[in-house]
Amino acid sequence: MRQLVIATGNPGKLIEMRVLLAPLGFEVFPQSELGVDDVDEPGPGFIENALIKARHASRLTGLPAIADDSGLVVPALAGAPGVYSARYAGKEANTANNNQKLLSEMAGMKAADRRAYFICQAVAVLSADDPLPLVALGRWHGSIAESARGEKGFGYDPLFVPATENCSAAELSAVVKNKLSHRGLAMQQLIEQIQKFW
Ligand code: IMP
Repeated sequence: MRQLVIATGNPGKLIEMRVLLAPLGFEVFPQSELGVDDVDEPGPGFIENALIKARHASRLTGLPAIADDSGLVVPALAGAPGVYSARYAGKEANTANNNQKLLSEMAGMKAADRRAYFICQAVAVLSADDPLPLVALGRWHGSIAESARGEKGFGYDPLFVPATENCSAAELSAVVKNKLSHRGLAMQQLIEQIQKFW
């Protein structure tokens, strides 16, 4: 069976990516199981960060690697938290700090300004120096609620209300979130490309 490494140290993402990549039929390892630590994400964009993560994991394991760089974009906040979504409230910030900061920054904003979307830029490399990474992009539209709801998912899910739903992303089942989400859409495209080109 062909093997690949998932280049993320984020447990929420890892759970989703393992399920989403199952149709590929590869044996999939989280990078932590192979002794790979998180790498710095200097940006400036999602694509650079995704490639850095995938190449790093592939270099240390000798396996093909898949990584995503994702984030929440609020146009009324000039695109924040964007590429800094994981560390919006500071380098050591946790999910609660980030979500609290987002609520404070958006306090008093009217519905039209609460529009937001998640972005997932996903990449797959066959080797650390692969000259032709496969690239996919998924986007999930919605809005930011005035308070948190739900316990499922991770990150900003309790604050994000998908445009097609009447609940937060943290109230959706994992199956439904994976069907609708930025990451679900990006992984679907990446799988199609892997099946065609690898
Ligand atoms: P990355 O590891 O730099 O890609 O960080 C992505 C950050 O964006 C996460 O730590 C979350 O804060 C946020 N994020 C990305 N995808 C999701 C999602 O599906 N739900 C909630 N938050 C997400």
